Amino acid sequence: MTKIYDAVVIGAGPAGLTTAIFAAERGASIALLESAPQVGGAMLINRGQLSGAGSKLQEERGIKDTPQRHFDDAIRISRGTASREFLELAVGLQGPFIDWLMDHGFEMAENMPRIIHGHEAYDEARTYWGREDGVSLVKVLRPMLEAHVAAGRVDVFTNTSAQTLLRDEKGAVNGVRTEDGRDYFGRAVVLASGGYAANPTLFSRLHEGATLWSGSYKYSSGRGLEMGEDAGGEIILKETFLPNFGGFLDHTLEQPRYRAPGGLTPQDRPPWEIVVNREGKRFYREDNESVDERTELLIEQTESLGFVIFDEAIRCEAPSIFSYFPDKAERFFEPEGVIESADSLAALAEKCGIDAKNLEATVEKYNRAVASGVDAEFGRSHMPRPISQGPFYALPIVSYTVRGYAGLKVDLDFRVRSKDGQAVQGLYAVGEVLGSLLSGKGSVGGMSLTPALVFGRYLGERLPIG
Ligand SMILES: Cc1cc2nc3c(=O)[nH]c(=O)nc-3n(C[C@H](O)[C@H](O)[C@H](O)COP(=O)(O)OP(=O)(O)OC[C@H]3O[C@@H](n4cnc5c(N)ncnc54)[C@H](O)[C@@H]3O)c2cc1C
Repeated sequence: MTKIYDAVVIGAGPAGLTTAIFAAERGASIALLESAPQVGGAMLINRGQLSGAGSKLQEERGIKDTPQRHFDDAIRISRGTASREFLELAVGLQGPFIDWLMDHGFEMAENMPRIIHGHEAYDEARTYWGREDGVSLVKVLRPMLEAHVAAGRVDVFTNTSAQTLLRDEKGAVNGVRTEDGRDYFGRAVVLASGGYAANPTLFSRLHEGATLWSGSYKYSSGRGLEMGEDAGGEIILKETFLPNFGGFLDHTLEQPRYRAPGGLTPQDRPPWEIVVNREGKRFYREDNESVDERTELLIEQTESLGFVIFDEAIRCEAPSIFSYFPDKAERFFEPEGVIESADSLAALAEKCGIDAKNLEATVEKYNRAVASGVDAEFGRSHMPRPISQGPFYALPIVSYTVRGYAGLKVDLDFRVRSKDGQAVQGLYAVGEVLGSLLSGKGSVGGMSLTPALVFGRYLGERLPIG
């Protein structure tokens, strides 16, 4: 006889895992489908930065923080574009979730929480991460899942991609057909399938032809979003498209992807280099502390591409631009690495496809600014030395994407809503498939991963069962 689960959950990332675990704790039967060979989703590769206000860790460090302050800060950073109702729900759940993690053996990195500057910073230390980044979270959640599997409450199907949603005779979603033609039935189906930042075609469709420079998990196919749309769900938040500033292609990874080098954040490492576009011209003040402004300016350049230009003296004297990866910084200078080098600026420009004459003129002008101490063009103040001693280097950087922006519209019970405002019966969605709900058109620290975890938990604790 065909088994009917309480819920079929599509995706075993943070949102799907917490949905399944907390529903199973109430005795629900769950089928958890996962495209990848293992559970964990983007936590297996992400930095795992979480945020939460009012945690015990904050209290121990004498930090007086509240969900209301977190809320206000997120609204400020998102410039009023984050969803107020979902933000209100999230900030109330996130602090207690940090405590819950600590109570369940989460290995927190040293000196947490912190204020970080990779994106617009919070006004309070409320960002946390594990010793092994996202993997520290997997290490808490996976054993819990395994306990439910052993108890027969959860069936996990890895290497299994959901392809189509199934419906009963009344039109309610009641199951999933996978790529290999198997059917799984449930009283509810939960889309916890993450975003689409590994799918250039869908990305381009949702964002007016934008080029995708992907820094995401390779299984972020967007299929869940498409299934939700096919079932009548409304896709919202397309306008929140705002990729990350300054990613380089890390060729040392098993699956190369774009990621931040670390040293392009002026609050952490004041700049020694200049950044030019294909035309060989600078296009922003390299010590501009607003990551949103830097990103907007990079997006406007030809192919959304920039080149960080420096010389041998800077390579030797400056703190490494690859501050996130000090151990492998030198590998990026190897022939197969992303950095181009040449004995002259003209030869460097030739190799990179930059306008050579303009590059020479730009560097000359910058060197004059260093000598006079006045950058008349952009007003940069940190100019420690000229760019004059070959070999010269260029690191290509792009505005890259690690998560989806558009997402399915849901109500506060996480039921998928159609354009006419009706709930799509039987269908729920949680996590990144909801798009940039909590960050809006901004990057609010920890506000992708933490809401995926806490909303997954919230849904798991409430899904109708039995
Ligand atoms: C490099 C990187 C760094 C990041 N750093 C941070 C950070 O520090 N802080 C933060 O807040 N956010 C961060 N994020 C974003 C964060 O990882 C995501 O928002 C979060 O993982 C979303 O959780 P999710 O469960 O919705 O999706 P995912 O983690 O993507 O999990 C979805 C799962 O669904 C599976 N899946 C997809 N389609 C199907 C299908 N059709 N059938 C079956 N399974 C399917 C996928 O394989 C995946 O395992 C980062 C992302 C990346 C890529």
